[in-house]
Amino acid sequence: MSNLTDVGTIIDVLTPEFTALSDAIWDHPQLRWAEYDAVDRHIAVAEAHGATITREIGGIPTAFSAEWGTDGPVIAFLGEYDALAGLSQASGSTECAPDPDNTTGCGQGCGHHLLGAGALLAAVSAAKFLAEKNLPGRVRYYGCPAEEAAAGKSFMVKAGAFADVDATVTWHPNSRTFTRQTRTVAYAQMYFHYRGVASHAGAAPHRGRSALDAAELLNIGVNFLREHMPDSARIHYAFTDVGGESPNVVQEKSSIYYVVRAETVAEMRELYERVFDVARGAAQMTGTELSIEFDGASAEILPNDVLEEVLHRNVTELGPIPFDADDEARAKTFADTYEAKELASERALMGLPRGDTRVLADVVPPMDITQPRQLISGSTDVGDVSWVTPTVQIMTACMSMGTAPHSWQFVAQGKLPAAHKGMVYSAKAIAGTALDLFTDPNLLAQARKEFEETTAITPYDCPIPDGVIAPPLRNRA
Ligand SMILES: [Zn+2]
Repeated sequence: MSNLTDVGTIIDVLTPEFTALSDAIWDHPQLRWAEYDAVDRHIAVAEAHGATITREIGGIPTAFSAEWGTDGPVIAFLGEYDALAGLSQASGSTECAPDPDNTTGCGQGCGHHLLGAGALLAAVSAAKFLAEKNLPGRVRYYGCPAEEAAAGKSFMVKAGAFADVDATVTWHPNSRTFTRQTRTVAYAQMYFHYRGVASHAGAAPHRGRSALDAAELLNIGVNFLREHMPDSARIHYAFTDVGGESPNVVQEKSSIYYVVRAETVAEMRELYERVFDVARGAAQMTGTELSIEFDGASAEILPNDVLEEVLHRNVTELGPIPFDADDEARAKTFADTYEAKELASERALMGLPRGDTRVLADVVPPMDITQPRQLISGSTDVGDVSWVTPTVQIMTACMSMGTAPHSWQFVAQGKLPAAHKGMVYSAKAIAGTALDLFTDPNLLAQARKEFEETTAITPYDCPIPDGVIAPPLRNRA
């Protein structure tokens, strides 16, 4: 009997409780740093299963851990729960329409309700497995806030939360299943606040200094900068304050929120320093004052080949996700809302044969460690954890192929049976992986050896500058 068979039986028994937890988080979506309801629900379930809870990790109100066991190595499961603004969407609907019961206007556009509940299901089940077999090992679940700010875990890492962790396992909902980690890019976000002087725009414009002009010149400068940066780098922005609503007033204040991404933390830092120069130039040109508020950052992922092989072995043993004809038919109604080329490109990535028409990705591509890793220009704060402890993450099909993250279709499919099946599958895959590390010390030692050899040459470069604290703590200081 493998570890996976036994823990799979435990997971099957617990599935209804954790499916209900996932649905409840979907029903009460909350934005980054304010996931109080989700944290209470996760803690209640973890406590009911005998966990010892540590609240407010690093002082962050919605960061916590749950732990089982007293001795042996520490294997951690990472969970998330935050939603995205403006993505309220009726469950199961194939029309873009808000959920009538949703009072917050936000929605689970990245499936973090599944991620948090599924990782907790895995942690509870792994702990039960160890207790039943009287085996040593400490299972820890981290409730991680604000993944959508790509910074919750980064601040937790900076606070030393992962210092005693031997390895970390996690997962993420997706439209495909794969065990080979893609490369993600480093990420930083910051506000530029401009202060000018208000004045009558018609009668006394010479006495005014426009903060709005400064923000516009910053954007224009960055547009010119984009030609002279690496192809894989990205810069995005959102206005958060454009001054007032009266065009006949010279706008006294403006704020603009920037995101800068590049392949490594060092490249990202170099790039945002150039953006800072442009921002200062805009202040000089307009005679306004600039203050820069660094908001958060995360590092690129450091993969671990040894852990990926263990994960892949578990997934191979599990076989395909047990989607049925109803799941496929339901997924098809969503797939019909995408362009054919989106589906074709996903089918190609899955390595499906020509003419294959399925829309639920129930196959796992083979693990080929000789192939270069795909680079995606997205980011995750799992990156920071991966630089302080060996980490592995499975992407699991929970949605129809072609479904883009952060879309209304992703929200709409979040409570369907296929999404629940993906969640349970992931729980089995990561619980099985963690238990292999607990029961075969040699595997854990190999994973740590790979990690230590890499980080001895390239140590963790914390992307958050000294003195920057997590956003929920700033007003308290
Ligand atoms: Zn996500």
